[in-house]
Amino acid sequence: MLTLGIDIGSTTSKCALLAGGETVLATSLVFAGIGTAGAQEAVSQVLHKAGIHPEELAASAVTGYGRHVWQAAQHEASELTCHALGARMVFPQVRTVIDIGGQDAKVICLDAMGRMSSFLVNDKCAAGTGRFLDVMAGILQIPVSGLTTEALRSCAPASISSTCTVFAESEVISQLSAGAKRDDVVAGICRSVAVRTAALAKRQAVCAPLCISGGVAANEAVRKALAEELHMDILYSNQAQLFGAMGAARLAYQKTMDKGGNTLCPKR
Ligand code: ADP
Repeated sequence: MLTLGIDIGSTTSKCALLAGGETVLATSLVFAGIGTAGAQEAVSQVLHKAGIHPEELAASAVTGYGRHVWQAAQHEASELTCHALGARMVFPQVRTVIDIGGQDAKVICLDAMGRMSSFLVNDKCAAGTGRFLDVMAGILQIPVSGLTTEALRSCAPASISSTCTVFAESEVISQLSAGAKRDDVVAGICRSVAVRTAALAKRQAVCAPLCISGGVAANEAVRKALAEELHMDILYSNQAQLFGAMGAARLAYQKTMDKGGNTLCPKR
């Protein structure tokens, strides 16, 4: 049975196509999120990669900040549910999932069976999210993926004390103009995201094993700083940004199986 998961985020659209609710046949990632044609493009890409026609899908599910604008899926679910499901597909024992996306950060605690026991979300402030890194990469005139290399070269990360992205922007510019080493400033930027996320995590009882999901997971400097702040190892997969889409495809599978494997799911 083929199921499709669609994750329409604030900055990116992701899809995952699963066979039998487990095997990832294809994925897609388009750097365009809610309010764009990114979701449609991501769906087209994933089906094309797998050589599948839409009629061959048993069911689909949509998640993400932009899920309400996508009417073509049979099911919808929160990002919390889908990131947890996707994370458990890759790390079956995981008890805490930290998702850092383009516009928010979430800490999701799971019980031993994988059921969500608690969660916290920072969606009020861009600091501590991918948006903060995007803004800083813009100032430095490098792609956001380039921050990691520079940050990892630093031995003495600069302190970015501003709690607001707009003030932090000025602080970074002042530090650079005062002669601070660029690598140290970039490391400070990455550490600042980690410190903010760790503060969110410390507000609840996080259990190991812990994994990271979302686009910011690709930033090794953030991962390292977060592990130091939490005094915990962090599991990472290069599919981390796709966990939401994978979880949605898994959910579509489970819902279809619950209905006795009927491939003609009613519209939600
Ligand atoms: P959303 O679901 O809200 O669109 P994502 O989970 O896709 O968010 O994460 C998007 C964020 O991930 C971007 O804001 C960016 O800061 C970060 N990001 C994306 N690609 C990379 C990369 N290769 N390296 C580091 N950070 C990245």
